[in-house]
Amino acid sequence: MKLFFGGVRGTGPVADLGFLEFGGETTALLVEGLAGEKIVLDAGTGLRLVNARLGAGAPGAPIQLLMTHYHLDHLMGLPSFGPLYNKLWAVEFAAPLREGVAAEDAVRRVLAKPFWPVQLEKLHARLSFTTLPAQAGQPVRRGALDIRWCAVHHPEGCHAYRLDEPATGASLVFATDMEWALATPAEQRDFLNLCRHPRPAHLLVMDGQFNRAHYAKFKGWGHSTWEDCVDVARTAQVRRLLITHHAPQNDDSLLLDVERAVQRALPGAGLARGGLEAGFDE
Ligand SMILES: [Zn+2]
Ligand SMILES: [Zn+2]
Repeated sequence: MKLFFGGVRGTGPVADLGFLEFGGETTALLVEGLAGEKIVLDAGTGLRLVNARLGAGAPGAPIQLLMTHYHLDHLMGLPSFGPLYNKLWAVEFAAPLREGVAAEDAVRRVLAKPFWPVQLEKLHARLSFTTLPAQAGQPVRRGALDIRWCAVHHPEGCHAYRLDEPATGASLVFATDMEWALATPAEQRDFLNLCRHPRPAHLLVMDGQFNRAHYAKFKGWGHSTWEDCVDVARTAQVRRLLITHHAPQNDDSLLLDVERAVQRALPGAGLARGGLEAGFDE
């Protein structure tokens, strides 16, 4: 299993010179399994880089687009997602219901007039929509990958996903947009279970947009601090932590300072970067 970060920026994209190290595209990740499975996590502007990677391979493999939630920073790249306009691709949108909204409702709305000139029915790819159960009892199998998920604390709801590749032992937990400090004990327990079972995850990618010193000002905004990420990674005994959903005003020099603090707190941890590929070899 390989993981590619198309975008790791929260809230909105940025494109200034001081943002080249961590990148300015909003959340979109591509997971490629050993057997050619292609899973895209979220549809932020980072889909631009995901497009380029997918375009380098032969079209036709089904793409599953797992959606954490429908805030615009996680959806604004969708209208220009290349495979939607190519009849050789099949794209399956999948998510649990959130506040009664299914993935199809959200996708249809974002492509509706007057927001975009090409509506859902005019797209060329073979499209399908799957509503996942509210909580995964048994994992859902996608090729040779197992998919698990749980709800996390965020305005309008959000889900964290876990992908396991039993053949290689690789595992990823992706938890963007989660406010750990406001999560209920049950929400915290469910998320720690997701990180720990069936075994502590190789890699946890978690929202750490804020820091504890300034968190009080942003309480209720739906995001965690990098210190929360370190606590969760330690408690769940994940092998590696990468922090994501960087605030759009946080430039490279500020994020490099944050990364040094993260590494002092948890050696081996770091901040996710747009364009970065992560393997699961060791
Ligand atoms: Zn977000
Ligand atoms: Zn959000």
